[in-house]
Amino acid sequence: MLNPRSLNKLLALMALCLMACPLLAAEITGVRLWTAPDHTRLVFDTTGPAAHRVFALRAPHRLVIDLTGARLADGFDAKPISDRYLQRIRHGMRPDGSLRMVLDLKQPIRPKTFQLRPNASYGHRLVIDLYPGEASGKPRVAKSAQDVQRARDVVVAVDAGHGGDDPGAIGRRFGTQEKLVTLQIARRLKRLIDAQPGMRAVLTRKGDYFVDLRKRMALAREQRADLFVSIHADAFRDKRVRGSSVYVLSQRGASSEAARWLAEKENASDLVGGVKLDDKDDVLASVLLDLSQSATQHASLSAAAKVYAQLNKVGPVHGKRVQQAGFMVLKSPDIPSMLVETGFISNPSEERGLRDPDHQEHLAKAIMQGVKRFFAKSPPPGTLLAERGQSALKHVIVRGDTLSEIASRYQVSLNSLRRKNQIRSENHIRIGQVLEIPDT
Ligand SMILES: [Zn+2]
Repeated sequence: MLNPRSLNKLLALMALCLMACPLLAAEITGVRLWTAPDHTRLVFDTTGPAAHRVFALRAPHRLVIDLTGARLADGFDAKPISDRYLQRIRHGMRPDGSLRMVLDLKQPIRPKTFQLRPNASYGHRLVIDLYPGEASGKPRVAKSAQDVQRARDVVVAVDAGHGGDDPGAIGRRFGTQEKLVTLQIARRLKRLIDAQPGMRAVLTRKGDYFVDLRKRMALAREQRADLFVSIHADAFRDKRVRGSSVYVLSQRGASSEAARWLAEKENASDLVGGVKLDDKDDVLASVLLDLSQSATQHASLSAAAKVYAQLNKVGPVHGKRVQQAGFMVLKSPDIPSMLVETGFISNPSEERGLRDPDHQEHLAKAIMQGVKRFFAKSPPPGTLLAERGQSALKHVIVRGDTLSEIASRYQVSLNSLRRKNQIRSENHIRIGQVLEIPDT
């Protein structure tokens, strides 16, 4: 039993905590379920932003959401919630005071988590999208014939920078408009990607018109893109600056002065459409860093590094490695994203190159090769590339096999197949020999 004095102290302490730790005081007031054709969206209504982490467990399949300092509001009831993926929701308090929500699943799930700020209809929300598939991206152990049938292409959103009223940067020598060059390169890139087995590209802009930055990201999301590649050809005040470069999003700030300068310019693009992004967007601005987002960032870097390495082969690159800057268009919380500066239109010789169909094709090929290598190494679960990665790592030679036939069956080049297995000629293979299939 507390005496009045300790009670006062306790109340004072609680008041202090409420003031000092507003982030830790979130209450879960409700839960809603939306069933989309390809995923289920679970929305928790909260009284404020809730620090959380999400992880998956197997046998049985569960998704665990730990919310620091959060608690359930009186009368909260998640019992009736279930659907084709979700069996039920359980909850409990952990010794450290965090709230643990456990989703008992009917199958493995790949979660995507983010928070939304209040809008006209709803308050703070914690959103958990449940997609069928493994959370970790590890190869599946067992697969049914149906799984194989359902395997899909990986989707690359190719984003031609600028357009319409927004010409982008202008070349000094020929007056080349960035928006035209980016569209030409984007179209080439799409064609090259579409020609790759298991890969498909979608363009966020198909002609010379304005698309605001958020719309570009929304289009990529609608298409369930696995990767977002934004194509630019920018300018710098110093016309000597040249070379292509690859950027990923930086949360903290630009890695160089040029990077900061470019990011400001690219982001300003949206002012043309009359929309200022800073504090508007629900989804994009309010996403807190969580597991799914840092996974996205990791994948972005990995994909960008592959593209950078390929661009390095076709011409000069600007900067020693992939750079980071606060490009708005890269801020999708759930789609790995990169921005490729194909060259500096402000540099007279690069401006000439950017107009040249051959050079454009080289750039597009380099980007495609980088993207392809990224997916060969980390194919998203449920895609044809993931199936191929699992089933085609090794090949045992049987009577009648030829190297070129094996190469075409696994969609790799004859040369890389030979190199990987140190085979000098067709005559050097024998029945029963195990070949390793290269990544590309
Ligand atoms: Zn640009």
